[in-house]
Amino acid sequence: MDLKKYIREIQDYPIEGINFKDITTLLKDEKAFRQVVEEISSYFANKGITKIVSLESRGFIVGGAVAYCINAGFVPIRKKGKLPSKTVKESYELEYGTDTIEMHEDALSEDDVVLIHDDLLATGGTALAALKLVQQMNVKKVYFSFICDLKFIENGNKDILSQYETHSLVEY
Ligand code: IMP
Repeated sequence: MDLKKYIREIQDYPIEGINFKDITTLLKDEKAFRQVVEEISSYFANKGITKIVSLESRGFIVGGAVAYCINAGFVPIRKKGKLPSKTVKESYELEYGTDTIEMHEDALSEDDVVLIHDDLLATGGTALAALKLVQQMNVKKVYFSFICDLKFIENGNKDILSQYETHSLVEY
């Protein structure tokens, strides 16, 4: 099944000039959704992953399902102010201004092998901020997983991320 066909493209959303990849059209198809979860799960099944760390909010959908399939725990990274207990924080640049993400400070330990999953990799700013949060916990190893990778965007963030084993299903 060609998963790209299930991803809708919306011109000029959220701002003019952006061609937004809308994965809701993929998620609502039961066969496409199952394929996404199964492909990611089988790729990572034998890597000893103990925790899936996913990003609010689209990352949670497939990240949670993959955690279930590979028998790993699930750790949410959320936007500032949403997590109830003590957190570690990381700020990163957006096109206009900055954003801050948080993770519970007791979410991971030195024994964990972590898969960071998000729906889409664009500039890599979000993924790099997630990596910095996870690294604060001195985990054993980090992998990345994305449904979509906008390969045509190249920058320094992606040079750093390329040092980590990464799996993506659909490339642009
Ligand atoms: P980055 O930080 O520039 O790599 O952007 C990735 C983050 O923005 C992810 O958390 C995505 O959910 C979101 N994002 C950016 N562009 C798109 C898109 O075209 N479709 C869906 N999500 C996007």
